Amino acid sequence: MIGAGVMGTGISTLAVGHGLPVVLVDVDRAALDKARAGVAAQLRLARMMGKVPREGATGELVTTTRLADIVRATAVIEAVTELAPLKAEVLAEASALVAPGTLLVSNTSAVPIDEQADAVRRPEDLVGIHFMNPPYMIHTAELIRGPRSGEHALAAARALLKALGQDGIEVGDGPGFVVNRILQRMINEAARIVADGIADPASVDAAFEGCLGHTTGPLATADLIGLDNVVDSLRVLRERTGDAGYEPCALLLDKVAAGDFGRKTGRGFFEHGGSTS
Ligand code: NAD
Repeated sequence: MIGAGVMGTGISTLAVGHGLPVVLVDVDRAALDKARAGVAAQLRLARMMGKVPREGATGELVTTTRLADIVRATAVIEAVTELAPLKAEVLAEASALVAPGTLLVSNTSAVPIDEQADAVRRPEDLVGIHFMNPPYMIHTAELIRGPRSGEHALAAARALLKALGQDGIEVGDGPGFVVNRILQRMINEAARIVADGIADPASVDAAFEGCLGHTTGPLATADLIGLDNVVDSLRVLRERTGDAGYEPCALLLDKVAAGDFGRKTGRGFFEHGGSTS
């Protein structure tokens, strides 16, 4: 698992909770320490709620700042910051380290898999899996088949998802795939509505929850994702679609500039208390 932020922590919880050993890599030692504590707390919660098996062994969790420690991995999942050049660099290095035929997975929110395939040694080993947040609570993910994803990689990805207790919905490639092509645009528009003074964040979300039956409104979802990640994802979508509707709105940019990223910093569109992320 490469990247020990919100998603790297949550996917590690999912994996060790299903008995799979994880080597978790990050460039930031503090992020790794936070992730180790996060995995322990998330695992307690997930077990209590029956979201991961209550019985059975917990997989070993090793944390490291050395990417070379993934050398014997049977599957590699990257969940580093949503910046395409950074992902390309990390995937290139990872694909050079592991044995040919090892499954490579990008957990990108929006960068097309075929674009990332240019960076790896064997494009046929790469697929996308867009895990939802938190992955140990939501048991469905998008499995993205890039034009160059090989059958063996898709089969390995299906087997991995099964071992993690996840249903994979298989979709084609493109900026934002299915969920984020729609969701990120919706979040951007919801933020614009707040900025325009049409409704406050609680009212926007109450409308989606009450009128449309969504369990969480777009702005609480944005706080859960992390507004920094929302802005990065919107930029990826804007650049790759040419659609100005994805241009991150001023309110989102202001919040990110102020360090109000949502749950992970305690404040975004809403105030947040303690969290397990
Ligand atoms: P985050 O900012 O919480 O964590 C990113 C981590 O990557 C940080 O700990 C950072 O130190 C690390 N990192 C940066 N460069 C690195 C490198 N070269 N090697 C190793 N680690 C490195 O971000 P996140 O929310 O966990 O998102 C990670 C990925 O998952 C992004 O692509 C994002 O779009 C995607 N994603 C996020 C969500 C969500 O709800 N947050 C959901 C699905 C997918």
